[in-house]
Amino acid sequence: MRRPIFGLRNSLKCEICEEREARNTCSICGRSVCDLHFKEGICSICEMSMCELCKKNLSIGYCESCGSLICEECVAYSNGSRRICKKCAGLPPS
Ligand SMILES: [Zn+2]
Ligand SMILES: [Zn+2]
Ligand SMILES: [Zn+2]
Ligand SMILES: [Zn+2]
Repeated sequence: MRRPIFGLRNSLKCEICEEREARNTCSICGRSVCDLHFKEGICSICEMSMCELCKKNLSIGYCESCGSLICEECVAYSNGSRRICKKCAGLPPS
């Protein structure tokens, strides 16, 4: 009779692939992830939702004009539903 062993915390699984050993912790969301899903301090889920302009903050949405993912700091103009990034507005990135 085999029982699954729960509560063994020394071999934590990656929260993205649930296959590999999680050896890294994302500095943004705090997920435990494997080497494959970890790059420059962040997990690949955060990397995908990162602002494409500054690459420092999580994005809040897309620019209406160029379609880039942009964060709060890189929004030049917003009226709630419409957003334009600083690049499209001709402003220097912060
Ligand atoms: Zn993984
Ligand atoms: Zn993350
Ligand atoms: Zn940004
Ligand atoms: Zn734009």
